[in-house]
Amino acid sequence: MRACVGVFVVAAGLTAGPARPVAAAGLQVVTTTEDLAALAREVGGDKVSVTALAKGYQDPHFVDPKPSFILAVSRADLLIVVGRELEIGWLPPLISSSRNGKIQPGAAGYLDVSLTVQILEIATGQITRAMGDVHPAGNPHYWLDPGNGRRMAQAIKDKLTQLDSADRAYFDQRYADFDSRLAEAETRWEVTMAPYRGAKVVTYHRSWPNFAERWGLDVIGYVEPKPGIPPTTSHTVDLIAEMKQQGAKLILVEPYFDDKTPTAITSQVGGEVLKLAPSVGGAKEATDYIQLFEHNVDMLAAALKRTVGR
Ligand SMILES: [Zn+2]
Repeated sequence: MRACVGVFVVAAGLTAGPARPVAAAGLQVVTTTEDLAALAREVGGDKVSVTALAKGYQDPHFVDPKPSFILAVSRADLLIVVGRELEIGWLPPLISSSRNGKIQPGAAGYLDVSLTVQILEIATGQITRAMGDVHPAGNPHYWLDPGNGRRMAQAIKDKLTQLDSADRAYFDQRYADFDSRLAEAETRWEVTMAPYRGAKVVTYHRSWPNFAERWGLDVIGYVEPKPGIPPTTSHTVDLIAEMKQQGAKLILVEPYFDDKTPTAITSQVGGEVLKLAPSVGGAKEATDYIQLFEHNVDMLAAALKRTVGR
């Protein structure tokens, strides 16, 4: 059934509409996540055609590949990945099945943006996936710091320029425009979050260390005992005690997790569960990279005001 869908899409692509000049279509860019796609669109403008594989409301560690993914990767001039093993469970088979030499790891059309950003929680000693830990190579949710978003956009600009040097000035101008809009927004977010520096929160998964560090939040615990491991009773009991002791009231939860355990915990500590968007597309308001933070900062500041005061 899946193969039939793939064949149908190929056939439709070959026959639909009048043929366009190759130059008008621009570089075919495929990204693993919607955050990367949003940044590629910021910088690439109408010189690129961007397709994101995972949706922002899906857990990026565990994505169910669709037949359309292989087709998109097989046609890509550039594949942009989050890296740090975020996509290790689903991307490598897609890359090899695509038989596309341009986007194989190490080729010019493969870009791992984690190589030029700030990575937190890098393990010292032996790197291991023991106990199911899905963050063995440092925390892969680094896009949730706008400073890293700027570094990611710059890496994308450099790569687009390498692949399409004739449009260097265009990419430079698009990047500079994004950079200034982001800087202006960052100033606003700093003001909104300033009263909550040092506020204690709990998060479901370790998605938010870069976000928390940026605004000075103190993450005192996680609903998951380890990244990728579902809640256990003994860990939950310990977490409730810790939250009561430290006066933490808020649990940040990604839209793809069951909020049964977080709700049970917050009912014990007199707090509340807050669903934030971990990615562009993770909430209807998070339509691009800057709007992702507009949404999260507004929601979080309001929730902290309700639970912590200030
Ligand atoms: Zn993770």
